[in-house]
Amino acid sequence: MAEIKVNSPNVKYTATHIESHYTYNTTDVEFEDGKLVATPRETVYTFRTDRHIPRLGCMLVGWGGNNGSTVMAAMLANKHNMSWQTKDGEKTANYYGSLTQASTVCLGNGPDGDVYVPFKDLLPMVKPSDIVLDGWDISNLNLADAMQRAKVIDFNLQEKLRPLMEKMHPRPSIYYPDFIAANQSDRANNVISGTKAEHLERIREDIRDFKAREKLDKVIVLWTANTERFSDVREGLNDTTENLLKSIERGDSEVSASTVFAVASILEGVTYINGSPQNTFVPGVIELAAQKRVYIAGDDFKSGQTKIKSVLVDFLVSAGIKPTSIVSYNHLGNNDGKNLSAPKQFRSKEISKSNVVDDMVNSNHILYDPQEKPDHCVVIKYVPYVGDSKRAMDEYTSELMLGGHNTIIMHNTCEDSLLASPIILDLVILADVCERITYRVGDNPNFERFNSVLSVLSYLCKAPLVPRGTPVINALFRQRACIENIFRACIGLAPVNHMMLECKRE
Ligand code: NAD
Repeated sequence: MAEIKVNSPNVKYTATHIESHYTYNTTDVEFEDGKLVATPRETVYTFRTDRHIPRLGCMLVGWGGNNGSTVMAAMLANKHNMSWQTKDGEKTANYYGSLTQASTVCLGNGPDGDVYVPFKDLLPMVKPSDIVLDGWDISNLNLADAMQRAKVIDFNLQEKLRPLMEKMHPRPSIYYPDFIAANQSDRANNVISGTKAEHLERIREDIRDFKAREKLDKVIVLWTANTERFSDVREGLNDTTENLLKSIERGDSEVSASTVFAVASILEGVTYINGSPQNTFVPGVIELAAQKRVYIAGDDFKSGQTKIKSVLVDFLVSAGIKPTSIVSYNHLGNNDGKNLSAPKQFRSKEISKSNVVDDMVNSNHILYDPQEKPDHCVVIKYVPYVGDSKRAMDEYTSELMLGGHNTIIMHNTCEDSLLASPIILDLVILADVCERITYRVGDNPNFERFNSVLSVLSYLCKAPLVPRGTPVINALFRQRACIENIFRACIGLAPVNHMMLECKRE
């Protein structure tokens, strides 16, 4: 695929950066004398993207889990161009399911119509197979045995990967049994002893050790360990950075392992991404990230059922059809399902899944009164036999005109970890790109970074964390357009508008 070069006086390529002058168009709306007055606004941005692709390391919390071992397997299988036999014939490694690696964007019009390019070619991005992986797990299985335990990868591919993965051992981790299900205790044989303050220091040392040993330019830490229960958010406990650091210092039992990991990463200047639903990002963590100007992103990978929900409800509501009841039932048999079979951990997932249609419902006041929402119910059951092959059954009931009803029923079966693993890679790759983008507004001479709450990554998150006071967007195509259009802006291209006026003229 050819390299993209933008031919515009607004775009400058230097040896180190791509710089673009970009006019951002928005519309301000005010209520005046009983009328809604819409005023178009223009703001000039200068985007500067560092072209240097770093040597990037990623540390997974939960490296020995289904997702962790599958990510490792996928990276190695791709790096070594592996192929293997299955009952359906020969398969070769790929990155299907990855936004950056396996999807395309329309760059513009060529002589023969639309020209599509790989998403990963829009801006300089790290190749997934070049990311150096490391991580922690409370279970000491080497990565080859962890892959075998996960039962996700075809046996013939496992055999090829085993020699590469059996030398990889997760670092010992922090284990606070009260935060994950009691049924996880039998795998906790790789844990760090000591106080919470010592745990924090040890995780910081691990990050430094990894960075130095692998000669990395930067590290990103991502939580793909068990779903924890929510922690209390209380004044004096974790409401401010100062209180949170004091709570860790005195070993307060209400500080979760994931919060200790987040604090350690931020103190090391390392982006921290939360792939699970729990409230790792208590106010004290968010404040610390802002103080240290470090990115945080989450929560909870948006992989299967929720992804479809954030497409289907968007479609229904934007078509003027009124969803009135959404019932989502899941069963799965992997260790995630086992952990979620405990009520407090299920509750974290239920909360994460519950608000995913709010922005779409709130966007249409013709269909919904201000406080009105569709009934929305989420059930998750643990059925060991189905392993990682998760079943999701959804019923969407909607009102049509003149009292009519429409019921859509969906049955979705797929390997959960094969959906989540490309999302993990995208989160890390896109977080790195965002770290390399700075911008200035108008005549302001100073280049800035995005808000430390990196909501650009919302496409990949079930319950997107956004900067305080800004809207949460769940609608999938809006989320995708956000990333695509920001990246286009960085190379001085207009947002995709789908108008195709040139095709509609006489
Ligand atoms: P898993 O149970 O197979 O893996 C989690 C791993 O984390 C285990 O190996 C466990 O030993 C380890 N662990 C637990 N506590 C730890 C700690 N304190 N430090 C280090 N390691 C620890 O689960 P999975 O299927 O890999 O999913 C991982 C997480 O991702 C879960 O929270 C799940 O809810 C979330 N998630 C998964 C998907 C998906 O599609 N697979 C989607 C959204 C969210």
